[in-house]
Amino acid sequence: MELRVKALETILVEKGYVDPAALDVLIETYEHRIGPKNGARVVARAWSDADYLLRLRADATAAIAELGYSGRQGEHMRIAENTPEVHNLVVCTLCSCYPWSVLGLPPVWYKSAPYRSRAVIDPRGVLRDFGVELPAGTKLRVWDSTAELRYLVIPMRPAGSEGMDQDALAALVTRDSMIGAGLALTPGKAA
Ligand code: FE
Repeated sequence: MELRVKALETILVEKGYVDPAALDVLIETYEHRIGPKNGARVVARAWSDADYLLRLRADATAAIAELGYSGRQGEHMRIAENTPEVHNLVVCTLCSCYPWSVLGLPPVWYKSAPYRSRAVIDPRGVLRDFGVELPAGTKLRVWDSTAELRYLVIPMRPAGSEGMDQDALAALVTRDSMIGAGLALTPGKAA
């Protein structure tokens, strides 16, 4: 795979289609500057500000941009809210579409063929692999990302987080919980 990527990059550079310095800036930016902390701040705000949650529901792209998060792979955002009745899981069955502006670059497993197929065939089994066991009555909804539309899961606010400020709440929001492959952390267990 590494050789194939190198070969592809070499040809693209030789033909003048990409600038290696620009590529490096993009990768550096999304690997180190932009990450799931952005999404965690969106979730923490949604948990603590009812008006903000309404704006997220109406136009997630605009509401997320209010916090300064926009740009590549985040042009068309939609939220999927977890409730006791419904748990949402996000996948890109075709490739690896992912909301870069709020979560950074996708984890390796998100891009893997087994996740992309099993998330649809056996989502409950996938969640079990991640250590998430949902009540039998909770429905599972799987969202297939596309080049046009990216999803951000709003995990359920954990019990015991009442009265916490937004910074403390954001620390409870893991990357996986915003993909639906995990739950928000219980206060006291935050990293
Ligand atoms: Fe994709």
